Amino acid sequence: MRSTVGVERIPFLEVGATYRELKADLDEAIARVLGSGWYLLGKELEAFEAEYAAYTESLHCVGLANGLEGLVLGLKALGVKEGDEVIVPANTYIATWLAVSYVGATPVPVEPIPGYWNLDPDRIEAAISSRTKVILPVHLYGQPADLLPILAIARKHGLRVLEDAAQAHGARYQGQRIGAHGDIVSWSFYPGKNLGCFGDGGAITTNDPVLADRVKVLRNYGSRVKYQNEVKGHNSRLDEIQAAVLRVKLQHLDAWNDRRTVLARHYLEALAGQTGVTLPKVLPGAESAWHLFVVGVEDRDRIQAQMKEQGVETLIHYPVPPHLSEAYASDRVWGRFPITEKAAQTHLSLPMGPHLGPEGQQRVLHALCGCLVGA
Ligand SMILES: *Cc1c(COP(=O)(O)O)cnc(C)c1O
Repeated sequence: MRSTVGVERIPFLEVGATYRELKADLDEAIARVLGSGWYLLGKELEAFEAEYAAYTESLHCVGLANGLEGLVLGLKALGVKEGDEVIVPANTYIATWLAVSYVGATPVPVEPIPGYWNLDPDRIEAAISSRTKVILPVHLYGQPADLLPILAIARKHGLRVLEDAAQAHGARYQGQRIGAHGDIVSWSFYPGKNLGCFGDGGAITTNDPVLADRVKVLRNYGSRVKYQNEVKGHNSRLDEIQAAVLRVKLQHLDAWNDRRTVLARHYLEALAGQTGVTLPKVLPGAESAWHLFVVGVEDRDRIQAQMKEQGVETLIHYPVPPHLSEAYASDRVWGRFPITEKAAQTHLSLPMGPHLGPEGQQRVLHALCGCLVGA
């Protein structure tokens, strides 16, 4: 075992580095809210919603408590209810499935295309039944799902499309930002996302004013006018402090995503000829937000442990697919979704973020390649 004494640890992501980079502006924004005496549903939220709608090339943005609520309120606004079915990726963070379950509907999983790791459009129609209401693609790892065929299938079958863009802030598909291709797009501002706040936060974007209005009413107890409740709503508001923080950070999102793209290109070039590692692919016409850089390796757990010994922190997205989680399958029978299950066993997320420098990246590559050769 190599000694790690004196060797700087390479963290998977330095969440606190964005604060250090923008400390003066962020402190000023937070102090402004604290001093204003107005903490919910105020000017900061309104301004952020306008700015984020513009950024995502959509007409409406509604700030929410978190990304899961974006999915739940999105499904409710689209009229999904008990007994309905929603097409979801088999390989996603469990939040995508939970949102469907929360509205009483059933998540119907579909396998991804290996390499792109998003919903395989060729497998969607076989999963559609008379109960299907919505297709819910996820832009996993920051890569846009193939929306054109997905939207065509939805139109053909009279379905709506809700996008889970929790990992895709700034990504583009066919030259247009993710934000309004489908009926509703859901966002998370969890601290570790490409655009993250200092706590929980989320939003939906859409071009449809009726859907935006429904989500707005749902997020505030189903009420437009205080004590007049039109529907059984939620308490799901993005607070003024988080909105003010997001307004500052949004101005730097493109620069941060550019740094991620440089790192991703270098990972792809440096690992291109390497045997024993499969690399992520980007759809023609798509620009990834590179939320994660995920490779595939056999003997993944050994490689992760060896990289850790060398001070390089990696993560796994995701070790347990939802259909094998205790929440969805007490029997946990493997074999129903082999592409997803293989990904769960072989995927390894390398350090990726705007504050990873070239030397740090070199250390990651050195550690990874050393493990592959020594296999
Ligand atoms: C983070 C994430 C969510 C949930 O977002 P929260 O803000 O944590 O509720 C949903 N879907 C995906 C794909 C995510 O990565």
